[in-house]
Amino acid sequence: MTSEPDAARLDQLRTTVAGLMPAARADLESLTRIPSVSLDSFDQQHVQASAEAVADLLRAEGLEVEIVSEGGRPAVIGHRAAPEGAPTVLLYAHHDVQPPGDEKDWDTPPFEPTERDGRLYGRGAADDKAGVMAHLVALRAHGDDLPVGVTVFVEGEEEVGSDSLPALLDKHGERLRADAIVLADSTNWDVGTPALTTTLRGMFRLVVTVRTLDHSVHSGMYGGPVPDAITALVRLLATMHTDDGDIAVEGFATSEATELDYPEERLRAESGLLEGVRLIGSGSILSRLWTRPAITTIGIDAPTVDTSSNTLVAEARAKVSVRLHPDDDPRAAYDRLAAHLREHAPWGARVDVRLDDEGRGFSADAQGPVYDAARAAFADAWGTDPVDIGVGGSIPFVAAFAETFPDAAILVTGVEDPDTRAHGANESLHLGEFERVCLAEAVLLERLGS
Ligand SMILES: [Zn+2]
Repeated sequence: MTSEPDAARLDQLRTTVAGLMPAARADLESLTRIPSVSLDSFDQQHVQASAEAVADLLRAEGLEVEIVSEGGRPAVIGHRAAPEGAPTVLLYAHHDVQPPGDEKDWDTPPFEPTERDGRLYGRGAADDKAGVMAHLVALRAHGDDLPVGVTVFVEGEEEVGSDSLPALLDKHGERLRADAIVLADSTNWDVGTPALTTTLRGMFRLVVTVRTLDHSVHSGMYGGPVPDAITALVRLLATMHTDDGDIAVEGFATSEATELDYPEERLRAESGLLEGVRLIGSGSILSRLWTRPAITTIGIDAPTVDTSSNTLVAEARAKVSVRLHPDDDPRAAYDRLAAHLREHAPWGARVDVRLDDEGRGFSADAQGPVYDAARAAFADAWGTDPVDIGVGGSIPFVAAFAETFPDAAILVTGVEDPDTRAHGANESLHLGEFERVCLAEAVLLERLGS
């Protein structure tokens, strides 16, 4: 299924892609100027405008293009049939972006793309309009001689959870069917080191409510023998971890991550951990980030400090966020934690638990001819072999593609690097890495063509 381009062909692609970069950069800036924030409270006309802009760009490359939606934000599907006997590749990216947050935190306006020190700053300049452009550059590099069939799928609501993606995949599944799927929305390991993302953690969230009293009462009159709900809730939350910070709940799946050099100092710096605060849990740091579960309390409802009075509070609740081993079943894991919380109710307090949200993880087989072709294409573009990485977060659409197309090889690639700050202020794209991403994808299409 794959073929080896010779050195002369590689040089030709390298020169072609280099020549395409100024136009790609201009198109990327135009896309970045469209504030296509998919969150409800923002003007959705911009999301429509960015879908149309992406559709125009794909049409200009000779693709048959349609803007589609299934009750959600507009997605763009472009298609060009495969040459006789050649495989079809699905290229995914998303054209919606995160809200900019407080514009005061940005050094330059979020929707005015600006270059500084080899990086292009702007909301969406990396996540994921650079992913859109990487696909376009790969198509442009081959022009009329595209060696594979392609379907480009550019989603419009990734940043708000891809709610209508299952319906889109259901409706257009036949058109989207492919031998290989390139999902360009992740990160590389470092500037200069390409990566394939081969695992993503799954997740669920739950809300636990603790009640000890029929109604709140005076803490002076009843404090002593009568338990309050906040203290009971805090003791209950504390049962989820051991003293060392490992998960104290039975039955969560776990495994060791691949060994890459990730020193504790790098984690401390990247996460902003305060001096003297120790890491929690056990196993390698990357295992704790990628393949072991994590339980975090992310919110508590109780009287605020400023409005609190001398009262034994009758009811308090917390939201708990759980990250799971890539292969763990979110529903079964929720059942385990919910049972744990009910069994550990302190002092006979009433404990109610409900599921708030769930999402499956992903683990790629990461073997076979498509993966071989991708690794070789990365090595061609960077001059160094790629590494397999995990990502601790969850990307709902990856699991959706894996479920809809169980036979396709799924490649999770990306334009980001550790300094990209996707979703944060001063998001940026490393322009040198961007060119290598584009070249790698052009080479990948060449290698996948027969
Ligand atoms: Zn993204």
